[in-house]
Amino acid sequence: MGNPKRCLNPCNLFVVLFGSKFSYCYFLQIPGGFVIAASYFGAPSIRLLMQPKLPEVRISGIGVSPGIALGPIAFRTWASEEPSLEAIAPEQVELEWARLKLALEATRQEIRSIQERISDKAGSSHAGIFDAHLLMIEDKSVLAEVRLTLEDELICIDAAYHQVLGRYADALSKIGDAYLSDRSIDIHDVCRRVIRNLAGFGPTPHATEPHVLLAHDLTPSDTATMDRDFVLGFATEVGSPTSHTAIVARSMGIPAVVGLHKLPAAMRWGNTVLLDGYAGLLIANPTAETLAFYDKILEQKAAANTKLEELRERSSCTSDGRSITLSANIEFLQEMDLVHKNGGSGVGLYRTEFFYLDSNGRLPTEDEQAANYTRVAQECGESGVIIRTFDLGGDKLFGSKSEDSREPNPFLGWRGIRVSLDERDIFKTQLRAILRASARNKVRVMYPMVSALEELLEANRILEECKSELELEDAEFDTAIEVGVMIEVPGAAMIASRLAREVSFFSFGTNDLVQYTLAVDRINEKVAGLYQPAHPAVLGLMKMAIDAGHEQNIWSGVCGEMASDITILPLLVGLGVDELSVGAVQLPMVKFAIRRLDYSRCVELVAGVLSLGEAREIHDRSLAMAKDRYPELFI
Ligand code: PEP
Ligand code: MG
Repeated sequence: MGNPKRCLNPCNLFVVLFGSKFSYCYFLQIPGGFVIAASYFGAPSIRLLMQPKLPEVRISGIGVSPGIALGPIAFRTWASEEPSLEAIAPEQVELEWARLKLALEATRQEIRSIQERISDKAGSSHAGIFDAHLLMIEDKSVLAEVRLTLEDELICIDAAYHQVLGRYADALSKIGDAYLSDRSIDIHDVCRRVIRNLAGFGPTPHATEPHVLLAHDLTPSDTATMDRDFVLGFATEVGSPTSHTAIVARSMGIPAVVGLHKLPAAMRWGNTVLLDGYAGLLIANPTAETLAFYDKILEQKAAANTKLEELRERSSCTSDGRSITLSANIEFLQEMDLVHKNGGSGVGLYRTEFFYLDSNGRLPTEDEQAANYTRVAQECGESGVIIRTFDLGGDKLFGSKSEDSREPNPFLGWRGIRVSLDERDIFKTQLRAILRASARNKVRVMYPMVSALEELLEANRILEECKSELELEDAEFDTAIEVGVMIEVPGAAMIASRLAREVSFFSFGTNDLVQYTLAVDRINEKVAGLYQPAHPAVLGLMKMAIDAGHEQNIWSGVCGEMASDITILPLLVGLGVDELSVGAVQLPMVKFAIRRLDYSRCVELVAGVLSLGEAREIHDRSLAMAKDRYPELFI
């Protein structure tokens, strides 16, 4: 038995771990003098031996990755997070500087090995996140600032490095841009790794028993390197569904809840916690009743999943025979495996800006884009892929122009097609790549954030220009490539009959259509209650545009989150949508629901609610039909 390794304090239990790598001894002292001791052989781990009766604590956030996880809490803590500020003598400066060089090299190797592991597991686009980390380590201006701080302030290199990187991270997080805030997390990530190496801790340790990970925040690299055998799920105090952390969690299938604000002090190491990634709930010390409730849910989910799996090869037709194409939304090529597994027919929305953003703000070349789009299109087979041109701006950073393009109202600013039309070279590069990918595969192209006919006409004119260039170069492409426009601005919905003459399909970006119709910021929690997809104004606009499209023989799809909201599905079906595009994970559930709905009854439902004034009432009527038709999905 060696020195005490760690002191934990789970809910008034006092835990001391002694031991070598192979044998550990736990002492748990419950107030009142009761002590439990146990030892075992194996790697260090969080092991709950006994837990006193603690009150159940529920806290809600945003469920960003579905699933339920139950296990002991492990907190993400970094022993080296805040190095102590130690003064040094001037003659120690060079020594400290040499320590930093060694730590940087160790960090570089650590990141490279993570990169290799990730690219094997999740593909090179996820591994690309770490290119930025490597660049940060080498950044000359950062290092110059660290050197200056070291010399001027005569503090240890750990504190100097931490101070400088902290300043950079703070500056980014204060900009108020979701994407930039996420990049500040990357800086913290690199900083922690370097500080650990300076302190001689070595690479970040991993807990070696299954646990639910709680943290203030997690970096994309934390998420991408999570070992699924141990991390049952994770929850963070901050975060949004658009962060890379959430995106990676979804594609790796890790149940996750973010935006919990503040984890209650009652949540301690080793306490049992239940994480509900569907409802966005974290329940510490779940009571027997809660566990029984979730047991039932899991049973029902398992039964429902078996039923859902059986539908894989079945059509997505309503019970009275109306066929609705069911496709998938993807951000990364690697998601195609899940699309196949879940029986999606092609991709209805490829958010290509994530490919761009994962290239660390460097525009992928035409060849790189063409190769990527071709791979996705090949995977999609006959059903094809709808490639949305870059939807940069809004809450998504526009590469290196971030500083210049800070806007007071980014969602109402330089975004989507507006950026593409201003940055013609970038737009043309992408259109050429999309056209090249269409040579032997079914590819459609779609423009985001169109608010005026002129924009659509101009985009189509540039597309024709690209076709002419490719023809001259003898490059192959689909000369009749189908073009679609996203309907996500009320103005576009109002002029849908005119837009319909220029395109082959409409796709409703309801995430934006709701925010622009109701003037409710889609990422502002303070007005989340006003964000009502079943608002009669939203449904009215959709009906107007769908009807206008049908009159001119063009189809309409929905690719916003509304498409996977089974409480609203009866309304969408009744509005006459022809296609729904949802996250790969949600495909089976939505197919199940479509097959249970009766199109003619959905049409009647819509006819009966459009004149109602209150979104709540409309939603309730749709919900009632949904619960009647597919009760097993409401568990
Ligand atoms: C939408 O707005 O509904 C949409 C699908 O686009 P995004 O969420 O990428 O803005
Ligand atoms: Mg949108």
